Amino acid sequence: MASEVTPVIIVHGGAGDIAEGREGAVYPGIQEAAREGYKILQDGTALDAVERAVCCLEDNPQFNAGYGSKLNAAGELEMDAIVMEGKSLKSGAVSCVRDIKNPIKLARTVLEKTEHDFLIGKGLEAFIDEHGLTRTPPSELISERAINLLESMKGTDYLSEVKREVRKQTEHDTVGAVALDRFGNIACGTSTGGLTGQRVGRVGDSPLIGCGAYCDNAVGGVSTTGIGEAIMRIAMAARIILYMEHGMTGEAAAKKALEMMKERTGYKSGAIVLGADGQPSPVFTTSGLPWASVKNGRISYGVRKGDILDGGSM
Ligand code: ASP
Repeated sequence: MASEVTPVIIVHGGAGDIAEGREGAVYPGIQEAAREGYKILQDGTALDAVERAVCCLEDNPQFNAGYGSKLNAAGELEMDAIVMEGKSLKSGAVSCVRDIKNPIKLARTVLEKTEHDFLIGKGLEAFIDEHGLTRTPPSELISERAINLLESMKGTDYLSEVKREVRKQTEHDTVGAVALDRFGNIACGTSTGGLTGQRVGRVGDSPLIGCGAYCDNAVGGVSTTGIGEAIMRIAMAARIILYMEHGMTGEAAAKKALEMMKERTGYKSGAIVLGADGQPSPVFTTSGLPWASVKNGRISYGVRKGDILDGGSM
């Protein structure tokens, strides 16, 4: 019988230039998500753990996903999510979701209940009804923080366009998780409200397989965060996995992809990577990325470069 694998989870709360003092707002939520996901890994699957961890972050208004998602230029929600499993390479993704509390659950339903990997628009609405999924009024998913962020951008040239000089000042707060379970399965997921003030109908990298997330049991898993347009241009998640497939560690692979992105597109960004060997790595070229991981029952976390803080044991 094959020996059991040591379960590991790593989660993130979005790459960006984290404002001074924001650590206090994100540390509890990021650690809670890692702990909740890790609990599932005691008996459950990587897919269950990723769903649980991402749900915790979607329910927390400090992060840009689910409740607390950023608002588009019309002041509306357009949430995107993807979840993927590394055994079958199947994913489930959704985009422009307005009234679902946990888009990651909807993405998982697409993964499990369809032969397709991505649903949008009228078809997605019908799918939600077909499966009797609960709708939540958008007003209950819009946080004060998201309203204030949009307000603060009115009157700038920020709205509706990706303006590098302004964007680089911001925090992104998109969320993601990658887990390895006792059976050697890897799963990953990413969920976002997109960018504050984005053009209506704009879709970023997050729900796109190979951009916002990718995993393969034989190699590892990735969830990315940053300006979606730049992440798409270099197919970041798939690129990291390919570098790993060619022998690089997760950390080295992510560093190479992020450097390449900076060079070719001018944007900074971040990713969490988990190798099939169980090595979790948060990697970012922005000044911050809230992350937490649990391995062998011990939690580590951080926000800024070089942080590996000890969160104690489970
Ligand atoms: N990647 C997301 C997007 O462009 C934003 C983020 O990572 O916060 O929609």
